[in-house]
Amino acid sequence: MARYTGPVCRICRRYGEKLMLKGDKCVTKCTLDKRPQPPGATQARRRKLSDRALQLREKQKARYSYGVLEKQFVAYYKDAVRQPGVTGENLVRSLEMRLDNVVHKMGFADSLRQARQLVRHGHVMLNGRKTNIPSAATKAGDVIGWVPGSKKSEYFKTAQAAMGNKRAPEWLNVDAGQMTGRVVSPPPVAVTGTFDPAVIVEYYSR
Ligand code: SF4
Repeated sequence: MARYTGPVCRICRRYGEKLMLKGDKCVTKCTLDKRPQPPGATQARRRKLSDRALQLREKQKARYSYGVLEKQFVAYYKDAVRQPGVTGENLVRSLEMRLDNVVHKMGFADSLRQARQLVRHGHVMLNGRKTNIPSAATKAGDVIGWVPGSKKSEYFKTAQAAMGNKRAPEWLNVDAGQMTGRVVSPPPVAVTGTFDPAVIVEYYSR
């Protein structure tokens, strides 16, 4: 299945929840506030969802929140099962530690999609090496920076000017002046309010 490239607000409307897929714009101007109804005329009739459908819904919300394909998501789940500790927490941690998510949370991009594009286009360095893999797993101590040539771009200057208005989570240490950041520790598990990881575990372990 190809990655979803359509309008992201449609996903929020489908699930009737703000999944914050547009980053900062979601706070200032949210489509769901104006058009809360699900997309498509046939969606108007909503039936009560079964337990299975509710579990699927949580899984899909998580998948869209991190822009991950089903096959990749299953791989994250299997990896989370193998790790010690609570599977749902391991799953969230792995998703949060993806390079594109870290770049977004550091404030270098307004949305996850934009962060993914920055990485894909080779603007980001991970521990001093150019990395163009959005799914690259980061770990505590990793340093995120910019490729020297990218620092001359208009995007970089605009992003740097906007850093004063942004606040990274505590598990990330950002130097706004230098536009670099360090992963201090794995994120606390309660990082997302948009889906319930325990329900996703139920979905896969039936
Ligand atoms: Fe669109 Fe963001 Fe609102 Fe979702 S939360 S509907 S992505 S503006």
